[in-house]
Amino acid sequence: MTILKIIKIFKETISDGPGFRYSIYFSGCSHYCQECHNPETWKGDIGDEVTDEYMERIISQIKNNPLLDGVTLSGGDPFFEPKELLEFLKRLKSQVDIDVWAYTGYLFEVLKAGETTRACLDYIDTLVDGKFEKANANPELFYRGSSNQRIIDVQSSLREKRTIERNYD
Ligand code: SF4
Repeated sequence: MTILKIIKIFKETISDGPGFRYSIYFSGCSHYCQECHNPETWKGDIGDEVTDEYMERIISQIKNNPLLDGVTLSGGDPFFEPKELLEFLKRLKSQVDIDVWAYTGYLFEVLKAGETTRACLDYIDTLVDGKFEKANANPELFYRGSSNQRIIDVQSSLREKRTIERNYD
């Protein structure tokens, strides 16, 4: 049995998507990007297990902050443990109607092709996809580290069966 773990939470941040966001950094990543900013997350062996009580605390903190514009899932890679992520997303979205962004090293097309990862996409509004590529790094980009990464409107893309990007440049 795998366990979803959280390394850190920022209860209000403006750097992981538009507006004030509640950002959750999950443990575990298998992309090993060169010059990754969070290599300590790779093994998935650090962080706090997401117990029922912890999950309720997260939901309560989100519900009780009227300033929040959304929740951002980052890491690590939130899709490191896809089955557990799916349960997390179902529980979150069933209790809070809030915009959800997710950062992942996987491409949108790869996530769409997997049964569990595809199911996760139903609960995500915006996906920032692709590995961090040092050769394409640009600190002036909004909400992403390198220009190969796409900011994808997930629900429109699924509905229209093509990849629709959001433009923040
Ligand atoms: S996907 Fe993100 S956390 Fe994973 S190695 Fe790449 S930059 Fe680091």
